[in-house]
Amino acid sequence: MAHRRGVGRGTPIVKIARACYPQVAMSDGSTIEWTDATWNPLRGCVKVSPGCKHCYAATFAERWRGIPDHPYGQGFDLRLVPEKLEEPLRWRKPRRIFVNSMSDLFQVGVPVDFVRRVFEVMNHAHWHTYQVLTKRADRMREITRALPAGLVDQGHIWLGVSVEDRRYGIPRIQQLREAAAAVRFLSVEPLLEDLGPLDLRGIDWVIVGGESGPGARPMAEEWVRSILAECRRAAVPFFFKQWGGVQKGRRGRLLDGRTYDEMPARREVAEGRSKSSDLPVYLSVAG
Ligand code: SF4
Repeated sequence: MAHRRGVGRGTPIVKIARACYPQVAMSDGSTIEWTDATWNPLRGCVKVSPGCKHCYAATFAERWRGIPDHPYGQGFDLRLVPEKLEEPLRWRKPRRIFVNSMSDLFQVGVPVDFVRRVFEVMNHAHWHTYQVLTKRADRMREITRALPAGLVDQGHIWLGVSVEDRRYGIPRIQQLREAAAAVRFLSVEPLLEDLGPLDLRGIDWVIVGGESGPGARPMAEEWVRSILAECRRAAVPFFFKQWGGVQKGRRGRLLDGRTYDEMPARREVAEGRSKSSDLPVYLSVAG
């Protein structure tokens, strides 16, 4: 850790975590370029595809395994954290919130009822915009179609899938299209190969980024330009997050001399949703 600027003996653990794992979720505030804050009512996950190889959440969580009373004392094992459910209700200022940056909401071990509770909170704290990203697109499709329509297809709840390669990533795009959602996005990160032609029908936003950190796999410029061209053809907003690399700061996030920070406009919550009188009994807005 000593090589990180500003980190040394006596540095608070939160600051160390932020310096060493800038993507990692401290619950409020985030250094991820395309969001404002992270919210983690779950912790832990299981790796499912090549994009998971260097999962920052797994690396971070496993550092704390076995430490009593630490939030990640169970390492990266899946754990529901119901006491975190109310967090967005306490954040009064509207934010873009990355939901479960340290996990995957749609993994098999998460009960449908808990997923429903997460959606209920997103509806009650409707002044925020939520970015729900998954690699379990098939289960997301099944669950969102089974939940009440008004709970999931809200303009302030964006559902997205990771698309790191052709074999695992591309099939998720169709599953996302078939999910119940008002806004759909792709996180093409870490981009591991040329994706070829992309069908972006029904997709509202594309994020592209290279892998960063030790062992980062390379990303070719032409792969990124190809996706940009597809976005331009389909009139889909394009966000270029980073080139990545072992030291991602060195390569920055310029593509052909400019940044791309496009994103969809927030769409308003449908009429009749989110009245405080609808709050389920397990939620309160105190705090
Ligand atoms: S799905 Fe996401 S959180 Fe889960 S192991 Fe893969 S990269 Fe990590």
